[in-house]
Amino acid sequence: MQTSFTPQQLSDPHIAASEAILRKCVHCGFCTATCPTYVTLGNELDSPRGRIYLIKDMLENGRPADKEIVTHVDRCLSCLACMTTCPSGVHYMHLVDHARAHIEKTYRRPVLDRALRAMLAKILPYPARFRAALRLAAIGRPFAPLMRRVPGLKPVSAMLELAPRTVPPADNTSGPVAPSGEQRGRVALLTGCAQSVLDPGINAATARLLSRLGIEVVRNPAGEGCCGALVHHMGREDEALDAARRNVDAWTREIDQGGLDAIIITTSGCGTTVKDYGHMLRLDPDYAEKAARIAALAKDVTEYLVTLDLPVPAIEPGIAVAYHSACSMQHGQKVTRQPRELLGKAGFIVREPREGHLCCGSAGTYNILQPEISAKLRDRKVKNIEATEAAIVATGNIGCMTQIGSATAVPIVHTVELLDWAFGGPRPRRIPETLSIKPATMVAAE
Ligand code: SF4
Ligand code: SF4
Repeated sequence: MQTSFTPQQLSDPHIAASEAILRKCVHCGFCTATCPTYVTLGNELDSPRGRIYLIKDMLENGRPADKEIVTHVDRCLSCLACMTTCPSGVHYMHLVDHARAHIEKTYRRPVLDRALRAMLAKILPYPARFRAALRLAAIGRPFAPLMRRVPGLKPVSAMLELAPRTVPPADNTSGPVAPSGEQRGRVALLTGCAQSVLDPGINAATARLLSRLGIEVVRNPAGEGCCGALVHHMGREDEALDAARRNVDAWTREIDQGGLDAIIITTSGCGTTVKDYGHMLRLDPDYAEKAARIAALAKDVTEYLVTLDLPVPAIEPGIAVAYHSACSMQHGQKVTRQPRELLGKAGFIVREPREGHLCCGSAGTYNILQPEISAKLRDRKVKNIEATEAAIVATGNIGCMTQIGSATAVPIVHTVELLDWAFGGPRPRRIPETLSIKPATMVAAE
């Protein structure tokens, strides 16, 4: 694609990076076929190619964002299916990140939208605040149907409906988990923010499994916090970079003190962001090198587990599991083989839902901010998952677990919980004991 930026515009490194991305796009439109918003809405401006044109026009003309571009960029899930499909290697993620930061700086949103976004940014990344908010949501839930009828309050209604009815007790354990037996490695485990509140059992299962495999697991090193993905996707660039710097410092201290073989991440949305720290902090001379080192060490838990020797599974084989590959896992991190391979080694029969490339509509805060498109994508995803007739759904992202779990009775668990169970750990709490194992499947007991 031809561009017409001036030399002065190109002296801004953000513009220069986006220009290089834009020039790679050859307008072929292959990406439209796999874009969930284009598939759902059928509007070219809600396709990757349409958004690329809008972003190009805004940046080339150096103008502030307007309502039209904000509407179509806000509808983008950042699922990155377009990047998997694109034959020309267009780095849509970095382009839309730049557009979102530009929108945040130049566009004044309506007051309710502004207030909601500010609230999400100030609550979700902080576990204590998020836990308190979930308790309040339980009180507000009866008003959700009423709020759904008021256009400006639809996101609040969606938030109340998504909040779990009960909040699991906090996991207050911290510090390193020693390896059982001979030590074979040392890793840091990102505790995360929303996941640690919604389901602390995921990180507990990860630490247990790694410990049994001989790996020392560092938890909660001083200074570690939210990876910054939530605010990054809202265009709040300064907050995202601050979060990244804080984590880079925390993990660098651990590397210096005891060495780290990997930084293990159990939420694929966070994994995509931490793996991008090198790019996010490339212009910060104090952090560029350290951030690149951290990004290179970041691994989804399944990427690390496939490198280890696994024992013989401790549960009867043959349970059918529908594997839902989160967008951030398959498109963001390109981790596709490892979760399936591990589930197979653990004795599960992996079933693939149709349209596996399409987003479930979770996408960070998307299911709150764009509840109508999100609900359509969720229902389509649930239909495809239920058609597999699997007894359990496995995925590697808490957002997808919450989204899909809100619309199906099929138990949905994190992949690592199934692996921990299969290799000697306890049954995941979401898998009821009333499930009975039959050869080649596992079905609800009559
Ligand atoms: S990131 Fe997803 S929703 Fe956004 S343009 Fe690409 S395919 Fe479409
Ligand atoms: S597939 Fe790639 S090159 Fe083709 S229109 Fe989409 S982004 Fe551009």
